[in-house]
Amino acid sequence: MTIRLHNTLGREKQDFVPQDPSRVTLYVCGPTVYNYAHIGNARPAVVFDVLFRLLRRTYGEDAVVYARNITDVEDKIIARALEEGTPIPEITNKYADIYNADLAGLNVLPPTIEPWATKNIDRMVEITQTLVDKGYAYTAPSGVFFDVAKMDDYGKLSGRNIEDNEAGARVAVSDEKRNPADFALWKFAKEGEPEAAIWDSPWGRGRPGWHIECSAMIASHLGTTIDIHAGGIDLQFPHHENEIAQSECAHGAPMARFWLHNGFLDMEGEKMSKSLGNVKLVHDLLEQWPGEVLRMALLSGHYRAPLDWTRDLLEQAKTTLGRIYGALQRVWEADGGTANDTAVVKALSDDLNTPIALAELSRLASEAHQAADADDTARMAQARADLLAAGQMLGLLRQSPEEWAHGGSDDEIARIDALVQARVDARQAKNFAEADRIRDELAKEGIEIMDGPQGSTWRRN
Ligand code: AMP
Ligand code: ZN
Repeated sequence: MTIRLHNTLGREKQDFVPQDPSRVTLYVCGPTVYNYAHIGNARPAVVFDVLFRLLRRTYGEDAVVYARNITDVEDKIIARALEEGTPIPEITNKYADIYNADLAGLNVLPPTIEPWATKNIDRMVEITQTLVDKGYAYTAPSGVFFDVAKMDDYGKLSGRNIEDNEAGARVAVSDEKRNPADFALWKFAKEGEPEAAIWDSPWGRGRPGWHIECSAMIASHLGTTIDIHAGGIDLQFPHHENEIAQSECAHGAPMARFWLHNGFLDMEGEKMSKSLGNVKLVHDLLEQWPGEVLRMALLSGHYRAPLDWTRDLLEQAKTTLGRIYGALQRVWEADGGTANDTAVVKALSDDLNTPIALAELSRLASEAHQAADADDTARMAQARADLLAAGQMLGLLRQSPEEWAHGGSDDEIARIDALVQARVDARQAKNFAEADRIRDELAKEGIEIMDGPQGSTWRRN
């Protein structure tokens, strides 16, 4: 099936044909590791994990090379290290581990390669040297800068041109830069900066600029021209524009054939920001909700559209997923079907249409119910296999229905246990109205209480 992807270069859906189907290359800009990831940061990781799964399904598991980097040297990390008096590696190792654990909680597959910026400094120096040699870069008192005026098609990804930048004057103009849009390839070390963030270079001791980190990791691990480069929409300009400028001027070849950008995640209609106090960390959300519910909520909208993160969205995702697990439960014992994931693959092949893929998952759940109602074992086995295959593509239904039924976070289970116990107590006190009220309250959440000789138990429907 042909995969069609919306290419920011060209601003249209295009047929995706890899350069080499036996080595399909994908790069996603990863986190700067100095604090916990918020749910917005998880959006590109989850969305492009679905792309990774789709590419593996289409070209073969071993044919896809997916690199998602760790930015472990950057101004914000240095600031944090100085502020806290903590060694840089302690900060970066800690937050990289947390990031990966959080993503694992969202069923995100590990990428094929996770390059760390500090392990690729030589390549950054090499590319900078090439740019200096070719006349695309110049040395100023604070570092080495890329000269955007030297590149004919600078701005082609974002559609901005150099004049726009000047008119907007959003980039601080310094006397050092020839043009406000010029950006640092190499930054000279300043007094008091930690040794762990300082390397030698032909121009002086210092560290790479942020953009060159990705250019170098891509060149080292994936190649000069890659198939797909992806990231959040905020990275389109200046980050991706500058990656293109460096890589293409150094290598004389296109950097990436497809550029994909995910839309932003907002909080209850507002931009997520520290000043508004509405930043939700993945780490905290995972304590309150099953990871698959968060994942389903992230995939409920199309990746290019903005996604409004609300309590309602999470409740809905939880209800839907609960229904699907309920259907899976009914066909769980029916082994032996031959999976057919065509409909989900088709939806995803149309520019990662996850809303349609999720609708298909719900349709398969209905089919499972019908097969179970008809007591048709062959049909049940088929429904089970189809549900699991569709779930595999989306990174959902990774638990057994049993695990799901009692799953969720420990807090959540404790809360339900307490309510179930409160109902038992109410019944013993012959307060039947209260007992019924608790039962109804839990029923609204899709939780059924079962009274038996051993006492009361519960399950999620
Ligand atoms: P950062 O660590 O800030 O470079 O961000 C890591 C990734 O998260 C980038 O791909 C950003 O585009 C993405 N990102 C940051 N904030 C949001 C948001 N609110 N919604 C969606 N993606 C975001
Ligand atoms: Zn990048």
